[in-house]
Amino acid sequence: TPPPPPGRVRAEIDLDALRANVRSLRARAPRAALMAVVKSDAYGHGAVPCARAAIEAGATWVGTATPQEALALRAAGIPGRIMCWLWAPGDPWREGIEADLDMSVSGMWALAEVTAAAREAGRPARIQLKADTGLGRNGCQSADWPELVAAALAAQAEGTVTVTGLWSHLACADEPGHPSIDRQLTVFREMVAYAEGEGVDPEVRHLANSPATLTLPESHFDLVRTGIAMYGVSPAPELGTAQELGLRPVMTLAASIALVKRVPAGHGVSYGHHYITSEETTLGLVPAGYGDGIPRHASGRAPVMIGGEWHRAAGRIAMDQFVVDLGGRKIQEGAEAILFGPGTRGEPTAQDWAEAADTIAYEIVTRIGARVPRIHL
Ligand code: PLP
Repeated sequence: TPPPPPGRVRAEIDLDALRANVRSLRARAPRAALMAVVKSDAYGHGAVPCARAAIEAGATWVGTATPQEALALRAAGIPGRIMCWLWAPGDPWREGIEADLDMSVSGMWALAEVTAAAREAGRPARIQLKADTGLGRNGCQSADWPELVAAALAAQAEGTVTVTGLWSHLACADEPGHPSIDRQLTVFREMVAYAEGEGVDPEVRHLANSPATLTLPESHFDLVRTGIAMYGVSPAPELGTAQELGLRPVMTLAASIALVKRVPAGHGVSYGHHYITSEETTLGLVPAGYGDGIPRHASGRAPVMIGGEWHRAAGRIAMDQFVVDLGGRKIQEGAEAILFGPGTRGEPTAQDWAEAADTIAYEIVTRIGARVPRIHL
């Protein structure tokens, strides 16, 4: 792809930082393998280059939510183990088998579809049984587990599946000490012991996401599934900043000021005139808006660093642009506007944007839109 025009809003992706984060996370979980979670286009960072960089740094698994994401990675030449976990009826099980995916199965309907696809393909599917140990979302509950385990073992005996994993997901790993964590660990151990007692011999048992990888060694088992921490973003401010956690933020979102103009006092700014200049001042136009994934909800609060100083979006964030009040500063068109970055130059971070938009930093980076070019450094 041709390089973007230099002033257009762009996301710079520091793959060295991603590799350093993978190494740092592996050091935190030295006995476990690491799965690089690259769903939703690697949380907005670009799935294929991020998967490649993570593998270079020692990740031996790659994980996605949907089979379509996993198949796209395989088609792009990503080697090794690729697991996907969010199946919907009618999804491409056969293509998954042929692409050598590890496919999560949470219930009997999925087992029926995958075994039928394996018969058509003439080879066994690699499946991982997902337990709902308390998240209350996807996964098989304890009460239904014996039926699923028995059916999976029967399918394995007839040669349509190989059960490669037993796994689950935590609800409150970002709140250390939350009572649900111990409960989920106990239920997970029980459900794994039951399946193994019945004859399942999994390659991997896994439970930990980023916050559990960082704070809960007893959750590491054979594999940790890290997403947000790999992108250098703290899973929750209570756990510490990225820097305190030894992580380097990977994404910098920047643009160039597209227009500077003097306006008189009492001038309304942007839709709805939610900002009115209090004196004669200079306005600067940042060419990025909610069409680029910038949350409109952060109107009036969104931070941006221009020429070493922070400004807040003045008035509404529009689809393609927002405005800052530069006061008496001498800023020219072409000046760099850093919306967020690692914070090492004093710029806002994705966490600052999360606070301005009443959301989590996961959402800030993930929602950066398709219109924004990713520049992988
Ligand atoms: N495992 C599963 C099943 C997930 O859905 C996710 C993402 O939400 C992750 C692991 C990675 O979580 P995190 O980004 O907190 O590391």
